[in-house]
Amino acid sequence: MTTAAFTDLSRLCIHTITTKPWNIEAAARNYSSKGVKGITVWRDTLAGRDIRKTGNMLRDSGLKAVSLCRGGFFPSKDRERRRNAIDDNRRAINEAFELGTDLIVLVCGADPAQSLEDSRRQIHDGIAEVLPDACAAGVRLAIEPLHPMYADTRSAINTIAQANDMAESLKSPFAGVAVDVYHLWWDPLLEAGIERCGRNDNLFAFHICDWKSPTVDILNDRGLMGEGCIPLRKIRSWVEEAGFNGFVEVEIFSDIWWKQDQTMFLEKIVTAYKEHA
Ligand code: ZN
Repeated sequence: MTTAAFTDLSRLCIHTITTKPWNIEAAARNYSSKGVKGITVWRDTLAGRDIRKTGNMLRDSGLKAVSLCRGGFFPSKDRERRRNAIDDNRRAINEAFELGTDLIVLVCGADPAQSLEDSRRQIHDGIAEVLPDACAAGVRLAIEPLHPMYADTRSAINTIAQANDMAESLKSPFAGVAVDVYHLWWDPLLEAGIERCGRNDNLFAFHICDWKSPTVDILNDRGLMGEGCIPLRKIRSWVEEAGFNGFVEVEIFSDIWWKQDQTMFLEKIVTAYKEHA
C-alpha cells in the first residue's frame, strides 16, 4: 500500500473492544499493518500486563494511544460503593498515565435505586474529587452521554446538553465531552450541543459506528458504518466545524461482528471508514 493511501487513515482510531477476540498485541499488530494510526484501549485488555511496556509496544507499532476506556460509574445509593468507584477512577488515571494516553472516557453510571438527579449529583461530586489527580497526571476526563435506554444503570447523563452542563460546572480544562454518534444521533439539539463544546474548547473525543434497524440487543448490536441510519458525515461535519481535529474512533460492540473473522472485519472497517465517515 502506498503512503498516500495511508494518509487517508491518519485520523482513524479503532477501539480494542471492536475487535474483542484479539488481545492488545494482536490488535496493535493488525491495526498498524492496515495503516490505522490510533488505538483506544479497553482497560480489560491490560490485565496482567506491564502497562508502561504495553504503551511502548503501541508506540513502536506506530499507534497513538488515543484514550483509555473506561472510568466512571460514580453513583450508588451505597456510600461504600461510591468510595470504591473513586478509588477505581484513581487507578484508571494512573493506568492512563502509565500507558501514555492523555484521555479517559467516562461512562458516568446510574443507580436505579435512586433518582436520576441524585445520580447526577454523585457523578458531579465523583468527577470533582478525582479531577485534581487527573490534572496532576495530565489526563483529561471525557463525559460520554449515553443513549437514554442506558439511563437505569449505565449513565444518568443522556444528552449532549447534560454532558455540557456537567463539564462546564466542573470548571476545568481537564473535564470535557465525548460525542458518540450511537448515543446522540437522534437528538434534535445535537448540532447546537456540539457547537457549545466548540465554544468551550472541550470536545475531547468522537466515536463512530451505526444504528441498525432493527437493533436486537441494546448492548452488543452496533453496526459498522453504513449498516444503519446515522447521518455520520453530517455529524462529523458539525464536530469538525466545532474545531475538533482529533482521532475518529471506531467503537463497535457487536456479537455478530465478534463472531466473524477479525482480519476480514478490520478490512471492512477501513473500507467503511473511507466510504461513510
Ligand atoms: Zn463511545
